[in-house]
Amino acid sequence: MPDGFQGGTRPSILVVEDEAALLTLLRYNLEKQGFRVEEATDGQEALLRIAESKPDLVLLDWMLPSLSGIEVCRQIRRRPATRDLPVIMVTARTENMDTVRALDTGADDYITKPFAVEALLARIRALLRRSAVVAEKGSLAFGDLAMDQGAHRVTRGGRPVHLGPTEYRLLEYFMSHPRRVFSREQLLDAVWGRDIHVELRTVDVHIRRLRKAINGEGEADLIRTVRSAGYALDTE
Ligand code: CA
Repeated sequence: MPDGFQGGTRPSILVVEDEAALLTLLRYNLEKQGFRVEEATDGQEALLRIAESKPDLVLLDWMLPSLSGIEVCRQIRRRPATRDLPVIMVTARTENMDTVRALDTGADDYITKPFAVEALLARIRALLRRSAVVAEKGSLAFGDLAMDQGAHRVTRGGRPVHLGPTEYRLLEYFMSHPRRVFSREQLLDAVWGRDIHVELRTVDVHIRRLRKAINGEGEADLIRTVRSAGYALDTE
């Protein structure tokens, strides 16, 4: 039995990939690590699989037949049942714009082909850890923002706020340390973990998404950008 899953259920991963050889390689390595693996070879099939088998994480290829990975990701985020489903986008390109675009569609992380299987496994583990619901936790509040950690629910002024797993963890960290300014490096360590390499601007992408989610029309921006220092949860 691989480490981490003793006594619990094995996390299931839906691999959406149209290259048969890569799919076989991924299945082999993921199963070896104790994950259950589901497959889809195009975008439409991916959405059907997600609805049917409710995977714990989706590994989503960017270039897919019938429906692109971007569109699949958008639809995952649009549906209430899958809004919080962790998604890692697999891109074959290296242009900066594309990685940012991958995150902007709602993916929690991305990896660029060709990649080392170990690097992918580290990202999968980190994301699963981040998205795990910690049921015994209590609640946090800041201004009109409230977080029920047991139910994994966030409201602002009583209005439900929908967050992806990474934005949730970011907000949880900010709400645990209100008004304190954190650098991007500190946020990476606290929210993503030290064992994983993530570019600093990834933090900015998730901060932008968090802002968009918590700040409704006419509401004050609760995230303060401190020039050359970082970010804080603040009413200023
Ligand atoms: Ca492809």
